[in-house]
Amino acid sequence: MKPEAAKRQIRAIKGVRDILPPESALWNRVEQTAREVFATYGYGEIRLPIFEETKLFARSIGEDSDIVMKESYTLVDAPDRFERWVKMLATPGWPQDATSRAEVEEYFRGIKITLRPEATASVCRAYIEHGMHTLPGDVKLYYIGPMFRRERPQKGRYRQFYQIGAEVLGQSDAPAIDGEVIEMLMAFFDRVGLTGCALHINSIGCRDCRPKYVEKLREALLKVKDKLGPESQRRIETNPLRVLDSKLPEEQAIIEKLPRIGEHLCAACREHFAALQEQLKLRGIAYEINWRLVRGLDYYMRTTFEITAPGLGSQNAVCGGGRYDGLVELLGGPPTKGIGFAIGTDRVVLSLQESGKVAAAPVLDVFIAWMGAAAYPAAVRLVRRLRGEGLSVELPAEEMKLKKSLGLADKLGARYAVILGENEVASGRFTVKRLADAQQRELGEAELIEFLRSKP
Ligand code: AMP
Repeated sequence: MKPEAAKRQIRAIKGVRDILPPESALWNRVEQTAREVFATYGYGEIRLPIFEETKLFARSIGEDSDIVMKESYTLVDAPDRFERWVKMLATPGWPQDATSRAEVEEYFRGIKITLRPEATASVCRAYIEHGMHTLPGDVKLYYIGPMFRRERPQKGRYRQFYQIGAEVLGQSDAPAIDGEVIEMLMAFFDRVGLTGCALHINSIGCRDCRPKYVEKLREALLKVKDKLGPESQRRIETNPLRVLDSKLPEEQAIIEKLPRIGEHLCAACREHFAALQEQLKLRGIAYEINWRLVRGLDYYMRTTFEITAPGLGSQNAVCGGGRYDGLVELLGGPPTKGIGFAIGTDRVVLSLQESGKVAAAPVLDVFIAWMGAAAYPAAVRLVRRLRGEGLSVELPAEEMKLKKSLGLADKLGARYAVILGENEVASGRFTVKRLADAQQRELGEAELIEFLRSKP
């Protein structure tokens, strides 16, 4: 290693970040609000692993989606097996027939694992693995945690970001389920204090009507291919629906003239979409139909939705979701209907900060200015009692001069300082000082605790 390299300051890698106090208090409030709101709708928390077999995401999200192709963090578990395999290959008597070689090779290569880019696939995997289809009623789950995508970092877009998501899995695809899921989301945004959110909905059809529409779209796109940028040109072949996501100004007029999915839905999908809108009206939820809302993941069908929030610039989607009937089956489970969403916590926090709704900094109630070795044990006992009363208390680990102690108490924003010297311990009477106006009083221990507990 070069000497300069050895000295280089190690920093968090590109696209990931630390969340520090007091900002972390706002994160906790957002997550706690989700827990409370979701519980009132009967959802339970599922804690999932952060990495899964790569196959899970390839099969569910789609082998040729950006997330799986370009953005995944994938590694080989047990790479040492591979080394062992290379050695064994050189061993005389090693099986020569192709099948047994391939099987042994797969084992020795180790399994490929991926840091989860999203959690719906994991929820479905867990649903199958634990036989949750036998549970009574719909299975309603929520999760909170980090996701990983190797995207180009910018404001509101990170490589490790956080989602709060929920899923409903069961036998019914009734539009009332979609309606209630969206109602719960809006209740969360309302409770968390994010104002100015807009709900966009769409239907992207089912396995019957979507392929026919995609073909029509492809034909229309081929006719205007020359006018499109290279990215959209490529998507005509790989995934024409994604052209509708384009934000390029020069492509907008062309896209507006393309065939729209709403005009190509089959009767069942049309009915489902109309019923969803009735559900939203019934629940007093304002929405806009956005025919271009197709979402990037393969597994969505029928209902898709997105919520945007102010103050976020181009990365203004704070939540995305949709219906994914058939995903559980695709992953080897029983026929199951499903719908869910994921809220981008980073962006919710950013939007709250932009609107000035940051959490108040936590208050330090009491600072203990202790002096003299004999005062310390009494201080420890007093602090334990105060904390037991739910007060936040700072007890300096090392003795300080009174002036320095009070100065630090002030800088930390403490409301009170308790002065505890050897004399105070001997007399059992403590001086408590209100830092805002330097008012002092002398109290016995029980009175002191009562006084501080009532936080005058
Ligand atoms: P998706 O899983 O792509 O449907 O995303 C759902 C939500 O997660 C989005 O609406 C964003 O709020 C958030 N999100 C997705 N990708 C990122 C990222 N790279 N950084 C921050 N938030 C993200």
